[in-house]
Amino acid sequence: MYCYQCEQTQNSAEGPGCRAEVGTCGKDALTADLQDLLIYMAKGISMYAHRAGQLGVVDSEVNGFVLEAIFTTLTNVNFDEKRFEGLIESAACYRDRMRAAYQAACAKAGQVPEVLSGPAVCNPEHELAALQKQAELGAITAGLSTIGEDIVGLRALVLYGMKGVAAYANHARLLGQESDEVYATFYEAMDFLASEPTEVDALLGWALKVGELNYRVMQLLDAGSTGRYGHPIPTEVRTTPVKGKSILVSGHDMVDLEALLQQTEGMGINIYTHGELLPAHGYPAFHKYPHLKGNYGTAWQRQKTEFAEFPGAVLMTSNCIIEPMESYRGRIFTCGPVGWPGVSHIEEHDFSGLIAAVQAEPGFLEDSEPATVTVGFARNAVLGVADKVIDAVKQGQISRFFVIGGCDGARPGRNYYTQVAEEVPMDGVILTLGCAKYRFNDHDFGDIGGIPRLLDVGQCNDT
Ligand code: SF4
Ligand code: SF4
Repeated sequence: MYCYQCEQTQNSAEGPGCRAEVGTCGKDALTADLQDLLIYMAKGISMYAHRAGQLGVVDSEVNGFVLEAIFTTLTNVNFDEKRFEGLIESAACYRDRMRAAYQAACAKAGQVPEVLSGPAVCNPEHELAALQKQAELGAITAGLSTIGEDIVGLRALVLYGMKGVAAYANHARLLGQESDEVYATFYEAMDFLASEPTEVDALLGWALKVGELNYRVMQLLDAGSTGRYGHPIPTEVRTTPVKGKSILVSGHDMVDLEALLQQTEGMGINIYTHGELLPAHGYPAFHKYPHLKGNYGTAWQRQKTEFAEFPGAVLMTSNCIIEPMESYRGRIFTCGPVGWPGVSHIEEHDFSGLIAAVQAEPGFLEDSEPATVTVGFARNAVLGVADKVIDAVKQGQISRFFVIGGCDGARPGRNYYTQVAEEVPMDGVILTLGCAKYRFNDHDFGDIGGIPRLLDVGQCNDT
């Protein structure tokens, strides 16, 4: 196992990288290796999809598969080796399907198909141990002794950028937003990686191109979210629970949240958001659900405490699960790309098992003292008061804007987000997004001439 794709990576005299039997996130060596092999297989699909795309062939099912498969390999998304075994097998089937489509398109166009190698022809082994051995083909450090650290690092930079693209593109797709142009660049980038590039300039060029691609994908995601749920508006969100049976929904996926709200309507079950689902409250379409009661808890790294204390069932959508404790293992569910061995996984938005599980839990026995935070200061809401903001800047009432956001780490003593927020001058405005906001969003920062000094702009993708 070798993985250095995230902030939690271990450090040793050999440099950064989780290389023990278990990474800091809880990912074991087998799962880490299977993830490498899945990425390798996704490159194989991409080699054919890129060439078939140039001949006008688009396969929507393959597109959906590739995005979700790559998404599963991001940090804290999926730890279930069985799921990876299945995904690797499916990847080989989709790769063969794209090969056939490419060859048919070549025949139609009177071209001779290229004969491809590497991931394009790799067939997965059938035993887990053999699969793990085969994963060496896709290891991050493959070829290190001949190509050197810089090339390995640049390939990883492009790949990790592509993992981000896959995650956001998957969210956008579920919201009905896709683009053939995005898929074309996506497959071209993965095909480039499959060619085992060694040119520094070409790798740097692709790193920048992947950055551009991510902007386009965030635009699609924004169109998907605002098109389906409306533009966020400033909304007060209750942060303390009320009496009743309860479900807590974490991760990023508003489509899952919406489906759950619909399936629990009129059942007397209260729904709370957690982590990066807090911004969902700003979207007008969610205001019609009276049983969406508020937000409970904070960011991902406090799950073990917060989920253990929550007296209901928990749904993990899209990402950021950490090892469930025994105390709540029987009442936590995953859906979408998320997975943990032994935890019930929900397919096709069928939340009946989760809804049944919540009935066995006590729920909150009484109302807590009300407390709130305000969310929904996305671009439309801010632009709506642009004249006031510009006036305040011109008159010297606002001197600076600070963006304090992003994901957050779990190390004790990691409090620089809080420190920066506390030291922002009284004529400074803070824009925040991502889980970092939980370090300070319960402080009262006051306002400047009616403009709140803390503006929660939404999820990380709303930047
Ligand atoms: S994803 Fe897990 S195994 Fe990989 S670097 Fe991060 S903590 Fe380590
Ligand atoms: S913002 Fe929070 S929930 Fe979203 S990916 Fe980052 S740590 Fe996970």
